[in-house]
Amino acid sequence: MKEKKIPELLIPAGNLEKMRTAVLYGADAVYIGVSGLSLRAQSAEMSLADLTNGVREAHARGVKVYAAINTFARNADLLQARLIIPELAAIPVDAVIVSDPGMIRLIKSLAPQLPIHLSTQANTTNSEAVRFWRDQGVKRIVLARELNLREVGEIAAAVPEVELELFVHGAMCMAYSGRCYLSAYRNQRSANEGDCTQSCRWEYLLYESTRPGDPLVLEEDERYTYLLSSKDLCLIEYLPEITAAGVRSVKIEGRMKSTHYVAVVARTYHWALNALIQNPGNYHCNPEWLAELKKISNRGYTTGFAFSEEKINETSPEIKYSQTHELAGTVLQYDSVRKRMLVGVRNHLAAGDQVELLLLDETVRIDTRIMVDANGKQLPEANNDNQIYLPLEREASIGAVLRQKVK
Ligand code: SF4
Repeated sequence: MKEKKIPELLIPAGNLEKMRTAVLYGADAVYIGVSGLSLRAQSAEMSLADLTNGVREAHARGVKVYAAINTFARNADLLQARLIIPELAAIPVDAVIVSDPGMIRLIKSLAPQLPIHLSTQANTTNSEAVRFWRDQGVKRIVLARELNLREVGEIAAAVPEVELELFVHGAMCMAYSGRCYLSAYRNQRSANEGDCTQSCRWEYLLYESTRPGDPLVLEEDERYTYLLSSKDLCLIEYLPEITAAGVRSVKIEGRMKSTHYVAVVARTYHWALNALIQNPGNYHCNPEWLAELKKISNRGYTTGFAFSEEKINETSPEIKYSQTHELAGTVLQYDSVRKRMLVGVRNHLAAGDQVELLLLDETVRIDTRIMVDANGKQLPEANNDNQIYLPLEREASIGAVLRQKVK
């Protein structure tokens, strides 16, 4: 394999808590949405105040922060963009992710020092397009998800001065460029305003009126997608091929996903990339990593378009969301004298439940038979928002994630 630089691990951070989680569990960089200007709903956007704090903390740990302002702006959005762009530059974020050429023009005039990353929403699929965006001042391009790794490698070789970023994990949108009205029609929440409810993942049967008992399976060839029921992308087994193709940043989807998802996906890909750094010529995907990725919300995994001979997925009613584990709580404090941690409970927890504490390099079983409150009173159970003490011999960082099996 030709030696290439190991890619950066880029993790989604829908809010300040998730940003801290991503940093704690091995992200090299995080991406966030900025209120009102990202293609995600408000639940996955950050205020400038949170972003300022988050960037300070991330930079102290050597982690970069990219701010998505990737809305396709209408004239009415430009005033806010003019206000926000200089603020982002002053924080300073490490780059802004944009889709709209108008936003690029604004950034170049208002904050020319701010590196520009082009969003996957701009749907860049060839090296001439990459050159075009380079000439507009774009430093990095998040390639279209429809490309295979051979095409990615050809683009990287043709335009090496532009950094390429590639989605390697997470939910896949079945609409080309994410331009889709399915959620708006079915749920009155528009994907084009960043509020997709992923209606394409629901179960549908398409009937022709003359053949009522004979539902159609909708599929397209490998240049596009299978419709309506995509599995999730997972390329952890192919990190050497992705590195060899010249990808500079591997990106995880999921700004709307949970803190548990962020912790697991960050540390699992962190382990995998570390293994690649240590032994680039002999990378093996540890089955434990795949087992970890099945513990978080997923619809079964596919390699998507990475290999042109493969189909993106099967349209099958069997494709459903699953996850074996969920968030139990997070560590609020560690008491090294009494060897216990204060936990902010985020679920229902009964004494004796099997709970695991996720550390960056290991998973620790926690004894929940002795849950006590601040007064030392033993508790038979705890609920969301309760604070409890659980025994722990070794120190845990604030924000560390505890998980339990889905009940
Ligand atoms: S409904 Fe599905 S295809 Fe449409 S934008 Fe949302 S994720 Fe994409």
